[in-house]
Formats: sequence, C-alpha cells, structure tokens
Amino acid sequence: MKFDFTREHLMVRQAIKEFVDNEISPISADIDKTQRFPREIFEKLGKFGFCAIGFPKEYDGAEGDEISKTIVLEEIAKKSGSISAILSVHYLPVNLIFKFGTEAQRKKYLPKMVRGQWLGAFALTEPNAGSDASNVQTTAVLYEDEYILNGTKCFITNGGEADVYVILAMTDKSKGTRGMSAFLVEKDTPGFTIGKIEDKMGIRASSTAELILENVKIPKENLLGKIGEGFKIAMVGLDGGRIGISAQSLGIAEGAMEETIKYLKERAQFGKPLIKFQGLQWYLAEMEAKIDASRLLVYKVSYLKDSGKPFTKEAAVAKLFASETAMFVTHKAVQLHGGYGFMTDYPLERMMRDAKITEIYEGTSEVMKIVIASQIIK
Ligand SMILES: Cc1cc2nc3c(=O)[nH]c(=O)nc-3n(C[C@H](O)[C@H](O)[C@H](O)COP(=O)(O)OP(=O)(O)OC[C@H]3O[C@@H](n4cnc5c(N)ncnc54)[C@H](O)[C@@H]3O)c2cc1C
Repeated sequence: MKFDFTREHLMVRQAIKEFVDNEISPISADIDKTQRFPREIFEKLGKFGFCAIGFPKEYDGAEGDEISKTIVLEEIAKKSGSISAILSVHYLPVNLIFKFGTEAQRKKYLPKMVRGQWLGAFALTEPNAGSDASNVQTTAVLYEDEYILNGTKCFITNGGEADVYVILAMTDKSKGTRGMSAFLVEKDTPGFTIGKIEDKMGIRASSTAELILENVKIPKENLLGKIGEGFKIAMVGLDGGRIGISAQSLGIAEGAMEETIKYLKERAQFGKPLIKFQGLQWYLAEMEAKIDASRLLVYKVSYLKDSGKPFTKEAAVAKLFASETAMFVTHKAVQLHGGYGFMTDYPLERMMRDAKITEIYEGTSEVMKIVIASQIIK
C-alpha cells in the first residue's frame, strides 16, 4: 500500500496553492461579506485548467484523476469555502454529461464547461423533496419533439449564475423513482426563471437559488441518459459529489488549523505564548487526529474512484467524517482565538459558518448514515 502522492499530484498542489495565494486569499473575506459571486475566479480556474481535471483531451480536458480534483478542492477550501463549493458543484454536471451524455451533448457542453466559459448546476432538491429525493414533483412531458418541464427547484448551488443545469423531473410518476429522468436545460430557455436567491449563514459568495420552470420547452435531444434513468443518474452524481464535499470539509479544517497554530504562537497571555499551554496543545492534538483521519478517508475514496472500484459507502463515510471534523475543528479554532475568533477581522468565524453546510448538502449527516448502513447490511 502506498501513501505517497505522485509527481503530477504534487505539481497540481503547487499550482493550485499559487492560484489560491494570488487570486483567492485576497478576496475571500470580502466576497463573503458582500455575497458577491466571483465569476472572474471561476473563469480563471477554467483558464488555468482546474475545471478540466479528470476529463479527456478530446473535450478540451486536461486528463488527470480524481485525486487531483480532490487536491484542488481541498486547497481552495483552505481559504474559501464558497469557491470550493462553486467548483465542486460545477464538477457534478460535468461528470454526469461525460458519463451519461450522448456524443453530441458531450461535444456541445464539455469543452465550454471545462474551459470555465459555462458554469454548471445540478437541480434535484424541491420544497418537498430534500432528503427524500424520490419525492420530486417537477414533471417533464414529451410533446412531439420537445419535453415540456414544469415545477420548482430550491436551494440550487450556482443557481442564477449557471449556464447549464442538469434538472431531475418525473416522466412517469406511476413508476416511482424509475419514472424520474434527467434533462439539460440552458439558462435562457423561455419559461425558465430564477426565483428566490437565498441569504445564507455560510458559503455566502456562492449563489443558492430557486428555479422556476413554467412550460419550459427543450428539444428531446436534451434528455440526459435514458428515460427513467434520472434517479440513478442523480445518485451517481451525488456519490461523486460527496467526494468533492469531503475534500472541501478537509480543506476548511486544515485552513482553520493553520490559522490557529499561527495565532497561538503570536498571542501571549500570562507571560507566555498561548501555544505553550498544554491544555491548548491537547485541543490541537485532537483536531489534528480528526483531520488526519479525514485526510485518509478522503484520499482513499478518491483513489477508489480512480481505480474504477465501487465507492458509494466510502464516499458517504468520508463526507460524514470529514464534514463533522470541519465543524469540530472550526468550532475549536474560534474558541482558541478567544474574542478575536468571534470577530470578522479574522477568518475563523467565516470558516465555522462555511463548515456547517458540509454536514447538510449533497445529503445530510443523517442521510450519510442511512447510506452507510444500507451498504453494510445488504
Ligand atoms: C446552501 C445549500 C446548497 C444546496 N445546493 C444544492 C444543489 O446544488 N442541488 C440540489 O439539488 N440541492 C441542493 N441543496 C439541497 C440539500 O441537498 C438539502 O437541503 C439536503 O439534502 C437536506 O434536505 P432538506 O433541506 O429538505 O432537509 P430535510 O430532508 O427536511 O431534513 C431535515 C432534517 O431531518 C433529517 N432527516 C430527514 N430524513 C431523515 C431520515 N429518514 N432519517 C433521519 N433523519 C432524517 C435530516 O438529516 C435533517 O437533519 C442545497 C442546500 C443548501 C442549504
């Protein structure tokens, strides 16, 4: 068993670290405060090839593997949970189009998406279909050469900013989850509008929006995968997406840890730097143990995906553990900064707010336990 990164992985890490230092660190506090969606950063990520990792050259991809994607999302999340979320969610529809798309769909969407020209979104959740994703009420009816979509999606990351959406809708309600299908909907399609933009606790520079579909007509060629395959497509997307969220969680925790060690070395009380207090060192040790365990889980599941092995359970384990670690570590990190941790002059309160979402989206911690249990008792 090898635990070393390859030369390529180290190069990816170096490149994304430089990108984060130059482009993301200087704006991460401000975009959180102003809730500004950093489109220019997404475009630059595309220009530098970070949206293209894991996709073949024939669609303008940069080749590479899931481990490299994990490295990218982890490094970004050290400084901005929002931007890590934007990119992680963008990867999801790109993966689905690559995996389930026709050649025409791949040629039309992938080059623009991997170059960072078109942003993607994935729309499953509805007001009455959250954890219970099988309860989707949005419908798609085939009429002559077009599907007509009606319904409302909520809490959609990149909503309102994205150029192309993978939307899950029922094509035959009588068949339950086997009656769900996936569709590609472009932003300017008549009848497709953006409703409420959410005002959130964390990842405030990412957009989270309601999507309203009123007699949205799309060509029948925009069906993604086969009719009735939508639920399976959504679950495949979420399995992969959960690796991204676990990488994001890991990065947030590592970022908070770095800040905390730096601070404890600088801050003195009772005549000595805080880092000298053994009680505080013990907190650091607990934080590090959880981060280390998260890192192993996150890279193990990335490796499994790269190896073409099943990874549903491992993705859920990694997301459950890494997201709860991100919350634990950021909570402690705020505590170890004392009053300064509570102030927006320091990044810790933002990190704690950003960590919370990792326990909720792409399946809550409770849903992760359902997935894990179903895999080990089957
Ligand atoms: C910022 C943000 C971004 C998001 N981005 C997207 C996106 O891009 N695309 C998308 O499709 N969705 C997105 N979502 C939706 C997200 O995936 C859901 O919010 C999440 O799956 C939970 O659904 P819910 O909010 O309806 O909560 P509910 O399902 O109502 O859950 C409420 C509580 O009950 C628990 N619970 C529910 N069922 C069970 C059960 N059977 N057993 C035990 N506990 C249970 C949950 O764990 C939770 O604690 C996003 C959400 C947020 C907040």
